[in-house]
Amino acid sequence: MPITGTTQILGIIGAPVNHSLSPVMHNAALAELGADYVYVAFPVAVDGLETAIAGFKVIGVQGFSVTIPHKQAILPLLTTVTDEAQAVGAVNTVWRTERGWAGTNTDVAGFVAPLKALKPWAGSTVVVLGNGGAARAVVAGCAHLGFKSVQVVGRRAEALAAFQRGWISSPLQPPLTVHPWEALPTLLPTADLIVNTTPLGMHTTAGQTPLATEDLALAPSRALVYDLIYTPRPTRLLALADQLGLATLDGLEMLVQQGAAALAIWLDGPAPVDTMRQALVDWLER
Ligand code: NAP
Repeated sequence: MPITGTTQILGIIGAPVNHSLSPVMHNAALAELGADYVYVAFPVAVDGLETAIAGFKVIGVQGFSVTIPHKQAILPLLTTVTDEAQAVGAVNTVWRTERGWAGTNTDVAGFVAPLKALKPWAGSTVVVLGNGGAARAVVAGCAHLGFKSVQVVGRRAEALAAFQRGWISSPLQPPLTVHPWEALPTLLPTADLIVNTTPLGMHTTAGQTPLATEDLALAPSRALVYDLIYTPRPTRLLALADQLGLATLDGLEMLVQQGAAALAIWLDGPAPVDTMRQALVDWLER
């Protein structure tokens, strides 16, 4: 579809945003659908958020994705926030309504989708590494899946305490306990699922891992190791887990599914999930 005077604008705001894979995935989907839209990356610094959103309203931006550092800061700028986003305390998808901007969180659905496809998780135990924004979506997702125990491990006591306080007024009430990193030798033997939500092992720190082989060896053989990072593939964490015979999952499907859920909102119809996944795989393997 050529870009013309009628083409509608979608995009992603963040800082930094130039490495985002969302434009690749969404523009492939828009082309497949023949939709008269384009999806672009908008670098928006912390102090530019309010101005950018006001500008989006004026120039007719139809919807946008939200990434670091705006996922929480955008909340007061929205007219409507879904229960899901309120429960998580963060928004990653925004769309235009007659009354103003509406926001939701599709990271939860994205995180849950590949897990649901594997087996039922009710009654299981998860160990979550890290306590930032993505960890909040993971905790919400595990609550939805019926996990009986959600153990979050972090490196800063005050951030962990704040993370726990953040759930006090949430309707989800996850079965959450928080722990210092040093508790891992006690926690890992109980894990059915281990989720890395730290950036350790991303392309910028490729080769690093939040858990060494001796840590992973403490996990039961039934444990699935889920790294939210999607590049490199595999991360060092997943390569080590695989060497020990543990099942592994990377963050690509979460990225695809959260994007598909967002596109379905913007276009009010089903997203071409296979096209979105293939576009990312092709891009990462180029
Ligand atoms: P974030 O809000 O910055 O949180 C990162 C967390 O990791 C914080 O708790 C941080 O602790 C901890 N951490 C950072 N470096 C660490 C280290 N060296 N050792 C131990 N802990 C460390 O970031 P986020 O938004 O949650 O994103 C985290 C990761 O998830 C990124 O790699 C991102 O790409 C990935 N992600 C993937 C998807 C997907 O669709 N697949 C979606 C969202 C996020 P401090 O507070 O102490 O720094």
